[in-house]
Amino acid sequence: MEKKIIYLDNAATTPMYPEAVEAMMPYFTERFGNPSGQYSLANEGKRAIESARKQIAATIGARPEEIYFTGSGTEADNWAIKAVAQAYRDKGRHIITTKIEHHAVLHTCEALEREGYRVTYLTPDEDGVISPEKLLRVLTPDTILVSIMTANNEIGTIEPIDELAKVVTERGILFHTDAVQAYGKLPLSVEDGNIAMLSASAHKIGGPKGVGFLYVHREVRLQPFVHGGAQEKKRRAGTENVPGIVAFAKAAECTFKNREAEEQREYELREYFIERVLQEIPYSRLTGSRTRRLANHASFCFQFVEGETVLIMLDTEGICASSGSACTTGQTEPSHVLTAIGIPEEVAHGAIRFTLGRDTTKDQLDVTVDKMKEIVTRVRAMSPYYAKFLSREAKEANRV
Ligand code: PLP
Repeated sequence: MEKKIIYLDNAATTPMYPEAVEAMMPYFTERFGNPSGQYSLANEGKRAIESARKQIAATIGARPEEIYFTGSGTEADNWAIKAVAQAYRDKGRHIITTKIEHHAVLHTCEALEREGYRVTYLTPDEDGVISPEKLLRVLTPDTILVSIMTANNEIGTIEPIDELAKVVTERGILFHTDAVQAYGKLPLSVEDGNIAMLSASAHKIGGPKGVGFLYVHREVRLQPFVHGGAQEKKRRAGTENVPGIVAFAKAAECTFKNREAEEQREYELREYFIERVLQEIPYSRLTGSRTRRLANHASFCFQFVEGETVLIMLDTEGICASSGSACTTGQTEPSHVLTAIGIPEEVAHGAIRFTLGRDTTKDQLDVTVDKMKEIVTRVRAMSPYYAKFLSREAKEANRV
């Protein structure tokens, strides 16, 4: 019999809602028309996109014309940062971000540095939090953009985004937030006008891969990202991904309908899971804030183990987790996020992230903790560092 998968990597991606799959299907077949066409078949696609735009806009308190569909969260991040850099370069060339952003933001900022922009990368505190005071200290007269994520993908920490956006906007500077992990998990609103731009992605909320959106406040000067046809108000050319956009809106509808109840359910499971792990697996620690944390997020460092080894062993048991951000797997360097919050390199190598989803059950978490206990014990038994550590401990105990 095929083993049942325990999927605890919902920060990497999520299974699609069946309703979202169903909603997108007709746009592959009988409603396949190109929305730019001049006939009724095309109009169906056009109407579906505009209705999705309206629905998505309502989830963050935006106007429909402030939502631009993109090909991913990564694209939305790239667009926001590059467009502001270009449109406001006469005003200044300084950008502020943080050391714990996703590579979609970090690598974009690094690319701009190569073009002559100056970028300040803020260091968070040991929980991963950026304080408004710290941000205020690095604002300069030529700062044109501040980009700080709403919640971190590796450690789940939630940033004080409303306060950060307020101090930035009050000084006439644009504020962008990468809300890819937070969208659908936290109540987000752009209504007070402090957030100038916000990025999100469909596949993190039960929608399809390859579709995202960028919210852009109507007063921001927005440069086109892709040149070509007149799609997305001539700002992002290319025939629209109609099925993807329709499914994104349906996934958002399913997510927001039940957001608070699901948040509470996942929070309770997550707390139970964290408690069991910390109590039953010695030399383990939680990374990120215990309280300012996405409800579905549990990330740890286990000393004297290699995260990658544990992941492979979990996989043989049918358990999917991650050693950090899925986008950085394959790299052997410790995660830039864990390094930025001051976790020593040798400890950061033992990082494992578990992220719950709407299908996660308590039984699955119990199985996972039990398997983790066995696996960590097995891996440590092979570690010369652990053996050395134990003998040192024993000597110390004898001395006492
Ligand atoms: N930003 C954050 C915080 C993420 O976690 C991710 C994906 O993991 C992205 C951006 C990229 O989103 P996408 O996979 O849609 O390109």
